[in-house]
Amino acid sequence: MRLTILGAGTGASGLPNAAQYPPGFLVEWADPAGDSGQQKILFDCSEGVRFRLAQAGHEYSQLHHVAITHPHPDHNVFLQFLQAVYLKWSSGGEQFKNPELHLYAPRHIIGNMDQQWDLLWQTPGPRYYKSPALKLHVMPDESALIGNGKLSAAKVYHESGNSDAVAFRLETPEGIFAYSGDTGDCPGIRQVCRDVDIFVCEDTARIGQEEKAIAYGHLTPRQAGEIAKDGKVKKLIFFHYTGQDSHQAMIDDCRLSGFSGEVVIGEDFQVFEI
Ligand SMILES: [Zn+2]
Ligand SMILES: [Zn+2]
Repeated sequence: MRLTILGAGTGASGLPNAAQYPPGFLVEWADPAGDSGQQKILFDCSEGVRFRLAQAGHEYSQLHHVAITHPHPDHNVFLQFLQAVYLKWSSGGEQFKNPELHLYAPRHIIGNMDQQWDLLWQTPGPRYYKSPALKLHVMPDESALIGNGKLSAAKVYHESGNSDAVAFRLETPEGIFAYSGDTGDCPGIRQVCRDVDIFVCEDTARIGQEEKAIAYGHLTPRQAGEIAKDGKVKKLIFFHYTGQDSHQAMIDDCRLSGFSGEVVIGEDFQVFEI
């Protein structure tokens, strides 16, 4: 299993200590039945993610699986991505044709997709493209088999409880991966990260601002460490940090939780293998 960080940042960019693209994470694993003996899935689909995929050596038009945690625009510009996939084929030729694209997302995203489409394109008639065919999966209602891997999700607490947000868990023969999206401490996030090899976890809240984090639904480094400790996580990778605390201060605060596994401050283009 290989994780490539495409964007470890937030909706802002170019900040001191946080000069990362908004969230995007590519996970690949071996599956003899998959394209080129592999499966791959993109977690969160932010602005710029297709350029990051290209920079990391991946053809964005050939992705078949995208999982989005919540509707906020630093995680979800799916229709813009879909347009780019379609235009790659219609402008670039048959080698870029993508017959099928699965979207795994909370109900608020999938249930409002037609309205989003109508906001962008005003001609009445059929919506979406001839290719790729969209396959929609409401999470966490479903758990989906992706080749020999299993994707599941749990509802999490974000935007003061108003956001229809989920966190994801991907189980493959090579290892288990969990991705928090944006969340505060809640039963859902503790459930998805149990016994995982890699936990990519948000770290938006400033050190010491635990109460504010609980109220809105974000995590301080210490709170993330407590969740990782409880889940017996092997490797904790922080993303979605604002840069207001230094990287070392974040790691020190995380250690106050008693979490003894590996802690990494995620940065764009880092690659982790299991
Ligand atoms: Zn966010
Ligand atoms: Zn958010």
